[in-house]
Amino acid sequence: MSTAVVVQAGAALLGACVGSFLNVVAYRLPHEDPARRSLGGRSRCPRCRQQIAWYDNLPVLGWLLRGGRARCCGGRIGIRYPIVEAATAALYWSVVAFPPRAHLAGQDFAAPLHATGTAWAAVLVLWVFIALLVAAALIDLDTYLLLDVLTKPGMAIGLAAGLWPGVAGRLAGDPSVPPNLDSLLASVLGLLVGGGVVWLVRVAGSRVFRKEAMGFGDVKYLAMIGAFLGWQEALLTLFLACICGAALGAVGLCFGGSARIPFGPYLAVGALAAMFVREPTLEFLFVTWPEWQRGSSSAPWLLSAAAVLSLLALFVVIRKGRRAG
Ligand SMILES: [Zn+2]
Repeated sequence: MSTAVVVQAGAALLGACVGSFLNVVAYRLPHEDPARRSLGGRSRCPRCRQQIAWYDNLPVLGWLLRGGRARCCGGRIGIRYPIVEAATAALYWSVVAFPPRAHLAGQDFAAPLHATGTAWAAVLVLWVFIALLVAAALIDLDTYLLLDVLTKPGMAIGLAAGLWPGVAGRLAGDPSVPPNLDSLLASVLGLLVGGGVVWLVRVAGSRVFRKEAMGFGDVKYLAMIGAFLGWQEALLTLFLACICGAALGAVGLCFGGSARIPFGPYLAVGALAAMFVREPTLEFLFVTWPEWQRGSSSAPWLLSAAAVLSLLALFVVIRKGRRAG
C-alpha cells in the first residue's frame, strides 16, 4: 500500500471516530444539568441508561451490525448517528485527498510525508474547524441555539491558527509583510466581516420585519467561520447558505410543511462549500453566470425567480423566530 492510501484511510478513520464523538457532544452539551453535560465517562443508552460496549459504539459499523437498534433494550437508534459519522469521515478524508487549494497552497498530499509541517498544521486546523462546525450545527438543529461554548473558543482557535500562514489565506500577499502577520490579519478581518455581515442582516431584519431574523448565535458562528477561512469565504458562506435556505424553503413550502430549520446548518453547508469548491463557485458566479446573462433572453426571468426564491428564504428564516443565543 502506498503512503497516500494509508494517510487517506487514516484520515477517514479519524473522521469516523471524531464524528462518533460529535454525536456525543451534540447529545450532551445542550443539557442544563452539569452532570449530564459532562463529556467524560462511557456512553450510555439514551433509553435505558445502560453502558454501551465499545464494539457496539464503533462508528457506522456498530449501527449497521445492530440494524439501528440498541443491544441493551432494542430501542431505535436514529439514522442521524451513522450519517454524522460517515459525513465527518468523508470530510476529514477530503481535507487530505482534495486539500482546499487556497489554504494549503498546492501541497501534494499524494506524497503526504513530503508535505511540509506547516501544511500538516493547516490540515489539523481544518479538522478542528470541521469538528466545531458540525457540532454547533447539530446542536442548532436540535435546540435552535448556537452555543457560545463552541463558537467562542472556535473564534479564538481560528485567530490563533491565523498565526500559521496558509489557513485563512493572506491579506496583503506582499512579500515585505511577514507571512505570519499577514495571515493573522486575514483571520482577524475574516472574523470581523463574518460577524459584521450577519449583524447587519440581523439589524436590517428587525427593522424591516420587526422580528428577529437571525440570532446573535449566528453572528458568532459566521465570525468563527471567517476567523478560520478568511473574509471572502465568510461572505461566500453566507451567500451559499441563503441559496440553500431558499431552495429548501421553497421545497418545504411546496410540500405544505413549514421547514423550520435553523440557519446554523445552512451556514455549515455554505462554509464547507466555500472551503472545498471555492474556485468553481467563484468562477460560476463571476464568469459563467454574467456571460450567460448577457447572451440569453431568459436570464431576466430566471433572475426574477431567484429573487422570489430569496424572499421565500428570508420568510422561512424569519418565521422560525430564533431565540437569541
Ligand atoms: Zn438501551
